[in-house]
Amino acid sequence: MTQTLGILGGGQLGMMLAQSALQLGHQCVFLEDTPNPPASLYGKVYHSSQLEQFIADSDIFSLEFENTPVAIASHLANQKAGIYPPPNALHIAQDRLKEKALFNELDVPTVPYRAVNSPDELALACDELGLPLVLKTSRGGYDGKGQFVLRTADDISTAWDELGRATTHEEMPAPLIAEGFIDFEREVSLIAVRGRDGEIVYYPLVENTHHQGILAKTVAPAPNVAHLTQDAQHNIKKILEKLDYVGVLTLELFVTETGLIANEIAPRVHNSGHWSIEGANTSQFENHVRAVLGLPLGDTGIIKPSVMLNVIGKYPNINELLTIKGVHFHHYHKDERAGRKIGHITVMNDELDKTIEQVESLLR
Ligand code: AMP
Repeated sequence: MTQTLGILGGGQLGMMLAQSALQLGHQCVFLEDTPNPPASLYGKVYHSSQLEQFIADSDIFSLEFENTPVAIASHLANQKAGIYPPPNALHIAQDRLKEKALFNELDVPTVPYRAVNSPDELALACDELGLPLVLKTSRGGYDGKGQFVLRTADDISTAWDELGRATTHEEMPAPLIAEGFIDFEREVSLIAVRGRDGEIVYYPLVENTHHQGILAKTVAPAPNVAHLTQDAQHNIKKILEKLDYVGVLTLELFVTETGLIANEIAPRVHNSGHWSIEGANTSQFENHVRAVLGLPLGDTGIIKPSVMLNVIGKYPNINELLTIKGVHFHHYHKDERAGRKIGHITVMNDELDKTIEQVESLLR
């Protein structure tokens, strides 16, 4: 029987979830306030003022937007067939301090960190953790926004002015987190899917490169990670089980000399998994839909090594792009704007290095 999946958020992640849902014989509707979001091409979009109608028209709920209010997710947990992943996963993932506390509780290694609520606490964190130090807003940051790297003690007041004072109300200080600066070798992520019956499947570890805090490129599978894979899977399994999670969960990790260090989780399908649409036997989007609807999970094995490049700010010359063999282009139907993710390109062929260079030159 066709089910309607009500999704919180209607961006490109919702669009790609809907593509998979339709293929499986189901459909999606979306709760989203931005006009003409990408997902509107695939399903009806409800404004948040139409929440009751959105609920009435859905059978079960999920999310694609990490900063969805937890109160809405908790409300949906008691409607129709409920919401997956559980609202508690959202509650934790929205707050870096809670996330780090969960990692520590589960013995998942993290950077050393301190909660910071005043300039004095920031100075103390600098003393205790040393410099450089990364100061982040504990809530609400994304794509590298809401972060400040302190390199000398003179940066304390500027960092506080930028992140602490600007958002602090007298009664409710905006919590900040100070993290030791990790001199990592590279960044990787692990995407896992947990079904309603507790089965877990893992995609291979992938390597991510960021540009100005935004993901630019994902290499799947990540090279030279055989010694890290078991550790990464063990860690994400503990998190999935602790949260009684259902759906796709992403764990972002730093690779260091001493092994993996967890940075953060994303309780949703993730940009570093877009390669899986063409590159894996079952995409992360299809597997998320399968998990939420209680269907058997699909094979996460790789069809061919792939590289995903984000299209940021401006579309490339699409005619030229499509002349390159092994290139798959995904247009998000979004207007061009500096720093905005508006599409992605997955490259799969036997001359990856050469092709990536070609595509990157078109993107420039
Ligand atoms: P985040 O929003 O935590 O994913 O951070 C965005 C990017 O900033 C990461 O992908 C890293 O490249 C960098 N970064 C974040 N935290 C640290 C840290 N503690 N030390 C060094 N680099 C970091």
